[in-house]
Amino acid sequence: MPEYKAPLRDIQFVMNELLDMPGHYANIPAYAEVATPDMIDAILTEGAKFCEQELAPLNRTGDIEGCTRHDDGSVTTPTGFKEAYAKYVEGGWPSLAHEEDHGGQGLPESLGTVISEMVGSSNWSWGMYPGLSHGAMNTLDLHGTPEQKHTYLSKLVSGEWTGTMCLTESHCGSDLGILKTKAEANADGSYAITGSKIFISAGEHDMAENIVHIVLARLPGAPEGTKGISLFIVPKFLPNEDGTPGERNGVVCGSIEHKMGIHGNATCVMNFDGAKGWLIGPENKGLNCMFTFMNTARIGTALQGASAAEASFQGALAYAKDRLAMRSLTGAKAPEKAADPIIVHPDVRRMLLTQKCFAEGGRALVYLAAQQNDIVKKAESEEERKAADELLGFLTPIAKAFLTEAGYEATNLGVQVFGGHGFIAEWGMEQLVRDTKIACIYEGTTGIQELDLLGRKVLMTQGASLRNFTKIVHKFCQSVEGDEQMAQFAAPLAEVNKEWGDLTMKIGMTAMKNREEVGAASVDYLMYSGYATLAFLWARMAKVAQDAIAAGTSEEDFYKAKIQTAKFYFARVLPRAKGHAAAMVAGADSMMDLDAEHFAF
Ligand SMILES: Cc1cc2nc3c(=O)[nH]c(=O)nc-3n(C[C@H](O)[C@H](O)[C@H](O)COP(=O)(O)OP(=O)(O)OC[C@H]3O[C@@H](n4cnc5c(N)ncnc54)[C@H](O)[C@@H]3O)c2cc1C
Repeated sequence: MPEYKAPLRDIQFVMNELLDMPGHYANIPAYAEVATPDMIDAILTEGAKFCEQELAPLNRTGDIEGCTRHDDGSVTTPTGFKEAYAKYVEGGWPSLAHEEDHGGQGLPESLGTVISEMVGSSNWSWGMYPGLSHGAMNTLDLHGTPEQKHTYLSKLVSGEWTGTMCLTESHCGSDLGILKTKAEANADGSYAITGSKIFISAGEHDMAENIVHIVLARLPGAPEGTKGISLFIVPKFLPNEDGTPGERNGVVCGSIEHKMGIHGNATCVMNFDGAKGWLIGPENKGLNCMFTFMNTARIGTALQGASAAEASFQGALAYAKDRLAMRSLTGAKAPEKAADPIIVHPDVRRMLLTQKCFAEGGRALVYLAAQQNDIVKKAESEEERKAADELLGFLTPIAKAFLTEAGYEATNLGVQVFGGHGFIAEWGMEQLVRDTKIACIYEGTTGIQELDLLGRKVLMTQGASLRNFTKIVHKFCQSVEGDEQMAQFAAPLAEVNKEWGDLTMKIGMTAMKNREEVGAASVDYLMYSGYATLAFLWARMAKVAQDAIAAGTSEEDFYKAKIQTAKFYFARVLPRAKGHAAAMVAGADSMMDLDAEHFAF
């Protein structure tokens, strides 16, 4: 089983040197006093310890044991999960990035993202329990009434209670416009919620004394489609006056799914039988409010891709240095041994470096998005908040879909580096593949993210969101003009950056004649956008590293490795964008001309 070691040096590189998080926190009054460098270091060190010592050892046992549903609908999580959660609560981790008004520590959400990365790499299934709560808290914080905040938020912030997100029904996941769960007004101002939700992560478990479900449902006579959906808060136990969990509510776990991965997380069918709930936000505006949850969850899921790439890379690297097979093509590198370690072979290096590019580049992309989120939430000026919101909106589908696909590829490469042993469960590499596949599916499948990026974010803004980003990239390319060492990165980056706009124009033009062109181009467009965005981040990382070396750093090997990885990315990974460019403008006909009934005979 791969042993997880939190990559603190790399985390600090991205936070301090690439994104200047200390400067970013100092610029935001709400964070300037609390998010000091000493405080951040202490939190990262403690977080790393918790993940390495408490969560990583439960990852494989959680996979083997899974969750158990009992006849009364209760669910037991795998051995050790409950105890680890108690320690997590005792350590104050759930409250890290939440408002002080509700018992939070008022630290930046981006810092919470860094902790979530370490949690995710060490044990994704476990991390989903507090992860879902985090989204529920953000939704209540933004859309809840003062009373709802008073009753539920402080309990979620303290970690005493956990939260869920109840959207999906058996007949609909992507298309929530057709959901059927009903909400009927009770005389006391509450609502009776009736319906069945499926695939509800952390829907039932034994880790917390109460579970707060955030549920989408339809009011009587509501307009059809997405315009007729409202949002409700439905607790498992109705809170007493004093805030303690009281009477059992009419929401029960009907079954748990037997699934490909994330066995340690209970994926539940939740049956609502006239369960008492309260409206969050205005009637029929539930989906708008739910977007707060979904956006938090999308960045969280992007993190799953990056954190899985990191975990798999760590396992594969250790194995590749140890496992012996054949000799290097240029002569023995370990003549004293029966064969050379497999890391001498170019193809093994290709796999490891691809994993490294996705893990470290993915970290940079997720932290960049998290930084924008801090600004959206807390920057003083409306102008700053608006700009960050637009950038975050543009980056979210790219981060969600590209990083989960890349993370999944990285975990498959991890299996491959292990050869036959990668296929064997005890090494833990196949678990990472199984656990990571879901990231490409939940929180909006890759297909749905692609449409969001190309359709909603880019074409519906007449390309404005893309132009905002390509301007940032262009400015960076200009800033390194004349820098000979940077030319190897800046020239191809500038080329991709320009081509990105040209391709968008082309698709926009063809889409005016045939709307199928958007759907047909969208997967390649998203992947192209992902490779381009990572190219920007790798070029910036190379620049930081180059400057550190020029300044006479004592960590030359660390920075040289960054530059080498950037070189690999530009030479071996970025060229994939060319294939996507060709495919995205190839037209919809080759996909659409074949009649559905003629796909097979
Ligand atoms: C383990 C697990 C945990 C989950 N956790 C939660 C949870 O906590 N809460 C919750 O509410 N849900 C949860 N889900 C549900 C998940 O979000 C949905 O499964 C997902 O959104 C896809 O919906 P679907 O399964 O209905 O697939 P469908 O919507 O039926 O999609 C099937 C395929 O069609 C494609 N497709 C659909 N429409 C389009 C289109 N217009 N254009 C192009 N392609 C399209 C999709 O991309 C997909 O490939 C979970 C699911 C799983 C398996």
